[in-house]
Amino acid sequence: MSFEQCSISGDATVDSPRDLATTYKIVEIFHSVQGEGAHAGIPHVFVRFGKCNLQCEWCDTDFETFTEMTAIDILADVLQYSCKRIIFTGGEPMLNDLWPLHRLFKARGYTLSCESNGTILIPDGLLDWICISPKDQLYPNVRIKQREGDELKCVYVGQDLSIYDELMNGFSHCFLQPCYMEAESVEWNGKNFAMTETVVKENPEWRLSLQTHKWMGVD
Ligand code: SF4
Repeated sequence: MSFEQCSISGDATVDSPRDLATTYKIVEIFHSVQGEGAHAGIPHVFVRFGKCNLQCEWCDTDFETFTEMTAIDILADVLQYSCKRIIFTGGEPMLNDLWPLHRLFKARGYTLSCESNGTILIPDGLLDWICISPKDQLYPNVRIKQREGDELKCVYVGQDLSIYDELMNGFSHCFLQPCYMEAESVEWNGKNFAMTETVVKENPEWRLSLQTHKWMGVD
């Protein structure tokens, strides 16, 4: 879509042509209910970016399959949903300069969240809700740079939880989530559920997060 001809840019004086023309690698944009963590049950528009700087063994996202979209195309896609909450996810969304999208969506009253692996520092004021899902259990030598935010969400695979002692201080909500792999058996996944439940009971500073969207069969 050409930004010069766009009728959805609303009050054109608030949109910078440079912002509208910024391109991003986008895997998918979809409207769904957040299935996990502090905002479970709340509808959001998910904007999934391509590319990631890690390669976790349980990753369920094909972040190498994406299309180049301009910010105005992203805007047009998101505006079709009657939902004012966006989650930037990935891949790793913070590999991108999100300020153009921030300006376009904040001008329209959106609430912006992200789900990031924490390896890239997030600029102050960019987002309304920061969820960091560190991967120290796989990458102990990768430094977590974003050490403050709203939600810390860790995939539990039996790691020593003391690795998060300092990091937890920077977050208001701390979640442990069982590692779930579709390719594995019901028994394998069930064991992880049970192990995580036990650990949360013994460590109540953590809350259990379940990927309820997977049970519902939605994205
Ligand atoms: S950090 Fe997230 S998106 Fe990147 S490989 Fe790991 S699970 Fe996948």
